[in-house]
Amino acid sequence: MAEPSARPGARTHHGIAVSDGVAHARILRIGQARRQISREPLAADAVEAEVARLNEALLGTRQDIQRVRDQVSAAMGAAEAGLFEAHLLVLEDSTLLNEVLRKIRTGRLGAEAAFHDVFEKYVSVLEAVDDAYLRERAADLRDLSGRVLDHLSGAVQERDLQHLPEPCIVVAHDLAPSITALLDRRNVLGFATEAGGKTSHTAIMARKMGIPAVVGLGPLLESIQDNEYALLDGHGGLLTINPTDQTLFEYGQLKQRRALFEEKLALLREQPAVTLDGYHVTLAANIEGPEDMAAVQASGAHGIGLFRTEFLFLNRATPPGEEEQFKAYRTVASQTRPGQEAILRTLDLGGDKMPGDLNRPGEPNPFLGWRAIRISLDCPDLLRRQFRAMLRAGCHGQVRILLPMVSGLEELRAARAILESCRKELEAEGVPFGASVPVGVMIEIPSAALIAEDLARESDFFSIGTNDLTGYTLAVDRLNERVARLYQPTHPAVVRLIHATVQAGRRHGRPVGVCGEMAGEPALVPLLLGLGVDELSVTPARIPAVKFLLRRLRISEARELADWALGCSLGAEIHRRSREVAVAAAPNLFAER
Ligand code: PEP
Ligand code: MG
Repeated sequence: MAEPSARPGARTHHGIAVSDGVAHARILRIGQARRQISREPLAADAVEAEVARLNEALLGTRQDIQRVRDQVSAAMGAAEAGLFEAHLLVLEDSTLLNEVLRKIRTGRLGAEAAFHDVFEKYVSVLEAVDDAYLRERAADLRDLSGRVLDHLSGAVQERDLQHLPEPCIVVAHDLAPSITALLDRRNVLGFATEAGGKTSHTAIMARKMGIPAVVGLGPLLESIQDNEYALLDGHGGLLTINPTDQTLFEYGQLKQRRALFEEKLALLREQPAVTLDGYHVTLAANIEGPEDMAAVQASGAHGIGLFRTEFLFLNRATPPGEEEQFKAYRTVASQTRPGQEAILRTLDLGGDKMPGDLNRPGEPNPFLGWRAIRISLDCPDLLRRQFRAMLRAGCHGQVRILLPMVSGLEELRAARAILESCRKELEAEGVPFGASVPVGVMIEIPSAALIAEDLARESDFFSIGTNDLTGYTLAVDRLNERVARLYQPTHPAVVRLIHATVQAGRRHGRPVGVCGEMAGEPALVPLLLGLGVDELSVTPARIPAVKFLLRRLRISEARELADWALGCSLGAEIHRRSREVAVAAAPNLFAER
């Protein structure tokens, strides 16, 4: 596709393409790049109305914080929700508030300016202190002040995103997965963000929702208006503001060609994922909830390779109990076809997925912090409820349990001990459950890959999470667009860790799958195939394309590629060679990329 042609007012921003498709619609900005705070003096008769506006904003902010506090407390315990109690106290601090009121009443400043100035004064004092803890509190205070200012300016609130009046392209600095999950699916035709990387959960969700998305566009919000139209190219990673008619025409044609090709891909639904020389791969689907099962069935996936169960816990005041979880897992298990399996992963909260709209969990490095199995083992009741529900679902289909973020054998043993006691408990209660539900480990931390041999001895299968494995191996934040060029799943270190994992699995007769985004990247499928993985698990929307490619590859050629890659020291070279093999096998799959 040629670069969109320019016209006065037309501008094109380049980002990272994360979800295919093209959308053309009005822009809806979420959040503000920089706040415009008016310093116009207030008229004498406007003062009391301004005070009332401030009080209303404070009340709204208090309600928001209480809601988040309750969600966090229910999901993680009262101690974790303590931060929000502190926020509430600040909002009631009479010294602070009196100072703001004085600025409005005596200084005749608008509520925004008065509130901003008072808070900034305290923030700058805290920021200057030589104490890391107090400096962090400064960030909390600024966050709190941002919430109040959002209420004062009427900025779009997350809950409004569920009901949008017209089709739009959402443009934001970043979108938390919890917010993305709330988007009005009828009217959000695509989204574009200034920040983010290819494997952020928001990007993963866009692919699942089948809407075009581009991330990592860099500073953008300040230069666009809500009423402007934009064309979003999720194939090429472009966002064009005010596109010309010629550009729209060209993209219209692209859309038609894609639609025809998709129809061709859909014909493969019932065909097996087998290479030209007869090598079978299990091509399974990644899901976030039972509502995704219709898409799974339509895609022709062979079972569920990853159910990210934490999505059942987002955007709600209280976490789902055993019964509710059981129903969700049962639906997935029973709708998985006979002979196929459903891999249910225990909670992977933390990182960029926090319950409610809590984006800052108060940890400086959330991806290295309290996440996934660490939370589950620290909150055994939470884990027990989940294990019991999963075991019970084992009566309704072939279920496997997968443990995320395992870094060492101790975690695997601790989780298995809890699972065993849940089995005994269900047995004693006479509650039916799947007697032999296999337990697998996600290999997504380099330490786990390096001790894969030990983990294989005490588990039943592996699922390689290349999204995190790449991030943790290369010390690259998967969400940060500034280091996105260093995020390289074909880096020799990652390739060798995948190889080591597959070999360890083989030696112990444990199947090995890949459920990270790499598995759904057609250019990288030859490499994974050659490295010997048994299963690829991808978002349902990518199943047809991956199957199309697999059916045109030869395992012999893929193995040759992998052998060569294991001796290669350059990630870009490995990527290039794998892509060449894929393009040679299925050129039309890459025609528009
Ligand atoms: C991964 O890390 O590759 C993975 C599949 O898990 P998630 O993307 O949910 O972290
Ligand atoms: Mg992961």
